Amino acid sequence: MNNNLNIDALKLKRDVWDIVDYLNKMFMNAIELWASDIHIEPTEFFLLIRFRKDGDFVLYDKLHVENISGIVTRLKVLSKIKIDENKKPQDGKIVYMYEKESQNVDIRLSTLPTNYWEKVVMRILKQDESLINIEALWLIDINLEKVRAELKSKYGIVLIAWPTGSWKSTTLFGILKNFNPLEYNISTLEDPIEYAIEYVNQSQVKPEIWYTFSTWLRSLVRQDPDIIMVWEIRDKETATLAVEAALTWHLVLSTIHTNSATWTVQRLINMGVEPFLLASAMKMVISQRLWKKICSDCKEEYQIKDIQRKKVNEILWPIIDKSELDAAVFYHWKWCEKCGYTGYNWRMWFHEVLIVWDYLEPLILEKESANAMRDEAVKNGMITITQDALLKAVLWETTVDEALKLL
Ligand SMILES: [Zn+2]
Repeated sequence: MNNNLNIDALKLKRDVWDIVDYLNKMFMNAIELWASDIHIEPTEFFLLIRFRKDGDFVLYDKLHVENISGIVTRLKVLSKIKIDENKKPQDGKIVYMYEKESQNVDIRLSTLPTNYWEKVVMRILKQDESLINIEALWLIDINLEKVRAELKSKYGIVLIAWPTGSWKSTTLFGILKNFNPLEYNISTLEDPIEYAIEYVNQSQVKPEIWYTFSTWLRSLVRQDPDIIMVWEIRDKETATLAVEAALTWHLVLSTIHTNSATWTVQRLINMGVEPFLLASAMKMVISQRLWKKICSDCKEEYQIKDIQRKKVNEILWPIIDKSELDAAVFYHWKWCEKCGYTGYNWRMWFHEVLIVWDYLEPLILEKESANAMRDEAVKNGMITITQDALLKAVLWETTVDEALKLL
């Protein structure tokens, strides 16, 4: 990160090429730091440039406010929006050529007039859509095998349970890309369409003109689909249609806003889906939490506290060999330039993969509580999200402190 702020670096420089170079460098720095957003914020005297990295803001630069017109105009040109419109919000897209890896990076831009000037926020979209796949979801091997095995039979409902900000679309697309679109009719209902995927029929819902998930889903099942991806299940109607589609030999992928895998089952029952239909239709729920991944450039070995060791043993003994666990080495981070002195670099997920096998059927039919279902699932081999997180600490992807925060 830039610790020596460039307060006057661009002051009064009117040469457009200075701004072109400056913005190119800014995009490059943002991509290399794995920032998710760039905020360009005018104040009375300064222009703040901040990156959002792993959920937190990091100050990137502070420029003299005189540079704003040059910078905003250049960004408007790049995103092909109206240069002379500064009274209304606008949206556009920049395709930035990241030369080091010769790849195009899509950057979604939005402007909003504020009391000083327009504020510009840019979202850096996925670097390369081809990198999203099921292997890139940070599933531990045992869960990855379960997920792959379940996807082999191509019917039923697969749900991603997500709390806010857990990047559900990456997981959905990762699973979707497990299938060759030339061998299947894959159709999606999205809001919004984030990545274009070749040979997949993607539709954007438009609730304002009555194209909601449920109205579109009704039409979509007449399109002879094999695999249907619905962005989100929010209401009974969509849930019921998804269940019906799954029961008529379709694979339905969707997401639902809940906190755990077994809560998802309960949520659907509470929405009004018939338990006996649900028990037959549900195939798998992947519950996920997005977490910061430890920086691999500055991580270092350390001794965890005795109290933590006790907790780790308690949680992992049921699933890991005791001697193996005793030999485990844990890491935490220092700080370095590569991670912008945060200790984190990029993100990953912790998971809980619930496979809805026969043992769950009686519990679903009886509308048992999410906790009862969870206990039964654990007995039948489900790895809890805390166990998953601690296994990731054993694998040096996170720290024990971070993993124990899930408790
Ligand atoms: Zn680092």
